[in-house]
Amino acid sequence: MGQVGNLPCCFGFLGDSLRSLAAFASLRLSQSEWSFETQRRGERKVPQRKARQVTNLPHFLFLCCCILLNLASLDWAATPATTGPLESAHFLLERAPEDRRLAASILRAAEAAHGRVSAHLPRPLERKVRLTWIEEANEFSRRIGRRGEVLAVAEGGTRRVILNGAQLRRSGAGRLPEVLAHEYVHVYVDQVLPAPIPVWLNEGLAMVLTERWSFDKAVSLAMHSVFGRLLTLEEITNAFPRDRSSVQVAYLQSQSMTRFLIDQRFSISGPKGLVADLASRDSLVQKLLRDRDWLEGFEKRWQEKVVRPTRFVFVLSSGTTLWGLLALVVIWAWAKRRRQRRQTEAKWAMEEEFSYHSDEFDD
Ligand SMILES: [Zn+2]
Repeated sequence: MGQVGNLPCCFGFLGDSLRSLAAFASLRLSQSEWSFETQRRGERKVPQRKARQVTNLPHFLFLCCCILLNLASLDWAATPATTGPLESAHFLLERAPEDRRLAASILRAAEAAHGRVSAHLPRPLERKVRLTWIEEANEFSRRIGRRGEVLAVAEGGTRRVILNGAQLRRSGAGRLPEVLAHEYVHVYVDQVLPAPIPVWLNEGLAMVLTERWSFDKAVSLAMHSVFGRLLTLEEITNAFPRDRSSVQVAYLQSQSMTRFLIDQRFSISGPKGLVADLASRDSLVQKLLRDRDWLEGFEKRWQEKVVRPTRFVFVLSSGTTLWGLLALVVIWAWAKRRRQRRQTEAKWAMEEEFSYHSDEFDD
């Protein structure tokens, strides 16, 4: 792939050099035209020769610089040819974008993602993960067998991550390390774990290892619970729902439930402890995941300890509640002011009555 990919670079070098020669030739031509013009006007020949001697040297230097620059770019572009396919320590870019700089940045992002995730994994993957960059959205959809705004897909069995080039370009370069880290976890789970795990735990692990749990997520989860739109564990065990809003809930729940599982069973060793347990032949969590009663109890405990407290957060942070509280404060302030005014008026009335009686008494 790398060697074939270098052919255009050689052509590019030849093209650039030819362009430089053409530029040089055109300069010479224009110079000779200028000489012809001056000769035709009947001017003297001596100044012409002088002018040619003066202008030849910068043009020659310009040509040399162009060739040197092209040679330097050829050397830089030819690096993969000497090293074989585009690859890094842990990744193989089996299908790279045409932009060499982008290809290099994908590998850099992949290595950064690997460094970030591998600190929480018990042992490294022995073989390199393949990366496939597909530029065309339609081709990507055909390749993964479905449509939608999918940034990347992991094929654990073949240790491959397929990247949606068009979508990733639209999302911005900042998403690439996060996406690569997420998909790397999926490949790792498929490669290292002896038995498959539920989809919610697979996605939950990828999210726990690559994303932070935020206040926004807690509020969003609470909002879904208030409106009764949380999914059951059974609904997210074999696959996620297809509709957009349910998928968002499914991801939120997966991250929250996996965090809860880690807090409950691996509070000291954290995610690394959970993955190490799942990777062992006599995994305790794998046994629990097959126990229907335990799963029911786990879901119930998660509802009680995570979802219910966050409902309070949602109620406090929701806009309706804030406006309601503000309205109550305004009504209370208005009632208080009204009471004070009535008390003042009553006091004045008493004083007036007293002064009237006094006047009568004086008479
Ligand atoms: Zn995922």
